[in-house]
Amino acid sequence: MNEKLTFDDLAQQYDHLESRTQMENGRKVTRFISYVHTRQGNIERSQWQSMVRELIREAGEEELFQQLLEWTGERTRWLKTKKARENYALELHASRIFDKEEWVDFVPFNRKYRPDRLTSAGLVPVEADCCRKEFITTLAQIQNGIGTVCCPYCGRFSNYKKKGNGDKDGCDKEKG
Ligand SMILES: [Zn+2]
Repeated sequence: MNEKLTFDDLAQQYDHLESRTQMENGRKVTRFISYVHTRQGNIERSQWQSMVRELIREAGEEELFQQLLEWTGERTRWLKTKKARENYALELHASRIFDKEEWVDFVPFNRKYRPDRLTSAGLVPVEADCCRKEFITTLAQIQNGIGTVCCPYCGRFSNYKKKGNGDKDGCDKEKG
């Protein structure tokens, strides 16, 4: 019996492209085949997409996937087709991006869709030098050694200062 695959098994490590040349109608034709390199090895992309979709179904995370698709769809104008946007969201879902406190969208994404996830995150109020407006980010993002933080108002990576935290909790928990 096969061991059950996990999202970690299918997380994309890099793209892999292979060319295949064959004779078609008396001519040599070269086609490129896209693979996803994972710790399971290279998996042909459309097969990999089905495998990730299956895992999402088994995990009962279809709603979360739709949320991620909606979120990334609004922010990935360079992806022209629905298929490309779905592929991108599958890559992010397999990497469990929504649980990574280093992700620049960790706070806004989870605030919108999974407010409970923020209660267990290391959050810190900061003010970026660019817009001089306060916002909440994660400790993971300001401890990355870069010295800048992604400003949600303008999208730039800017110098910042931590804000004195008068409130016990800057992030209101929504009741659901
Ligand atoms: Zn800004």
